[in-house]
Amino acid sequence: MSTTTITTESATDSTTAARTRGLRKSFGDREVLAGVDLDVPAGKVVALVGRSGSGKSTILRALAGLSDDHTGEVRTAGDPSVAFQEPRLFPWRTVRQNVADGLVRAGADAATRDAAALGLLREVGLEHRADAWPLTLSGGEAQRVAIARALVSDPQLVLLDEPFGALDALTRLSMQDVLLDLFARHGFGVLLVTHDVHEAVALADEVLVLEDGAIAHRLEIDLPRPHDRTAPEFARYA
Ligand code: ADP
Ligand code: MG
Repeated sequence: MSTTTITTESATDSTTAARTRGLRKSFGDREVLAGVDLDVPAGKVVALVGRSGSGKSTILRALAGLSDDHTGEVRTAGDPSVAFQEPRLFPWRTVRQNVADGLVRAGADAATRDAAALGLLREVGLEHRADAWPLTLSGGEAQRVAIARALVSDPQLVLLDEPFGALDALTRLSMQDVLLDLFARHGFGVLLVTHDVHEAVALADEVLVLEDGAIAHRLEIDLPRPHDRTAPEFARYA
């Protein structure tokens, strides 16, 4: 018996970007999710960490509407945008076209889409690659394009599944800066799946640890963010 509910904005209050209650999912006889309760508050970054195979991507797919045989309650504010470990760009579309495609569902006209795409490319430091073909990009550049495409529609919820998993350590660090900058500038709620605990602490307001099919630990992270100019720790630099 399924009690799945996938609902949109009206079903969550304005303080919640995503919520699951009692989320369960099995593959055959194996129960991967045994009742997951999680909240992504509006505008907050929540990291979900856990061992490989613990079910992180399964949770993310349920929130993204890419799974239909789970049970429990799954609610998101609006249509979430998703970026995966592999950038998944269309090779026959230029960088700016790939980003602009993120607005097709929003029904924006071509000129509006193009302007928004260029704006986002500027934010991720890739304006100069706007007319390049995806196959000429480095891994870090391609992932920045995928993230720009996910964010161009200004969603209330962004789902990132190991977005830097395929990148080298130095590129990962610079990608963290790009994300912190974007998070500080936009108000989206973010669920960031990662197996890298350092990355989770560096980026998130809250870290959830998935163990044995449920959230076993929840840590609030209260670090000043380099881009949060309102943090008192940074007042002396203002
Ligand atoms: P994580 O993202 O934490 O590494 P996943 O959510 O991808 O883990 O997978 C959780 C478990 O479910 C793993 O044991 C995986 O093998 C299994 N699994 C995931 N997708 C499928 C599938 N389509 N069919 C069978 N088993 C699956
Ligand atoms: Mg995964």
